[in-house]
Amino acid sequence: MSTPVVKIENLVKRYKELIALDHFSLEIEEGEIFGLLGPNGSGKTTTINCMLSLLSYDKGEVEIFGKKMSPDNYEVKKDIGVVMQNVAVFDELTVYENIDYFCGLYITDKEKRAKLVEEAIEFVGLEDFKKFYPKKLSGGLLRRLNIACGIAHKPRLIIFDEPTVAVDPQSRNKILEGIERLNREGATVIYTSHYMEEVEQICTRIAIMDKGKSRAIGTKDELKKLIRNTETISIEVAKPSDDDMKEISSLPHVYETAYENSKLVVRYSGGKHNLIRLMNLLSDKQYNMGRVYSEIPTLNDVFLEITGTALRDSE
Ligand code: ADP
Ligand code: MG
Repeated sequence: MSTPVVKIENLVKRYKELIALDHFSLEIEEGEIFGLLGPNGSGKTTTINCMLSLLSYDKGEVEIFGKKMSPDNYEVKKDIGVVMQNVAVFDELTVYENIDYFCGLYITDKEKRAKLVEEAIEFVGLEDFKKFYPKKLSGGLLRRLNIACGIAHKPRLIIFDEPTVAVDPQSRNKILEGIERLNREGATVIYTSHYMEEVEQICTRIAIMDKGKSRAIGTKDELKKLIRNTETISIEVAKPSDDDMKEISSLPHVYETAYENSKLVVRYSGGKHNLIRLMNLLSDKQYNMGRVYSEIPTLNDVFLEITGTALRDSE
């Protein structure tokens, strides 16, 4: 196998008594869009900061491009682009000047840089805002500027730490499409988020993080195979009697039944004709059914079953 782009082994990071990273390990191959999915406080940003040697850690090893990472390893750092969770741009510089400044840290040739800056501006769709100061930009546009500053020098590895938090849907789509495009153009990407839908949409592999630990790693399909749920059927119907609930529970492949928000919710592990069987049972018993939903598992179900708590993707 080729050398992984990122290799993290047994990383431990403590903040006094709190263990923010608990023997965290990870390998990312060239060409991936690797997702770190976990709720707030699960250790995503700490992983990024330790990985980049921006933060010291208590134990573990980090290799990037096959080389040991350290605070003064500029050879490795010049090939990494970082888009931090908190927007970091200069208020005194315009959109163009900001991107030019960050690009200039890596690219000294003026002509080459001018081309790269223009490309980055076009890439995030800020053509009409080149002369704007950051204070005049909306939250979504500011995030796009933050991204342009991190990627203009065309790094081999790009890290995005929750780039879509508090962003309008239009900017969000633009950001997600942009990340996929950077990946197609050759960049390996690390993407952290607590929005499971985004991670599911763009990531080739995903690590589920919880309380500083990596709880499961795989493609979304592999992760979904780790859990017993294969289908959840919900039906709008009056609350069935206890006896009827028991009968529903003993249908083939059912492992959980509940009545929530005026809906009967039945969870299945396997089976082919679950919906028909359930609807036949209810109509035989003269229940009037409203809307019917059949859902295959989401990463939220995976998270729920693996960690015992729900991963909120609203907020
Ligand atoms: P995430 O990025 O997944 O939201 P973080 O990596 O920011 O999570 O935080 C992981 C844990 O470490 C949280 O419990 C957080 O409160 C704690 N933490 C982060 N930074 C500090 C710090 N500078 N001092 C003390 N605790 C911290
Ligand atoms: Mg974070």
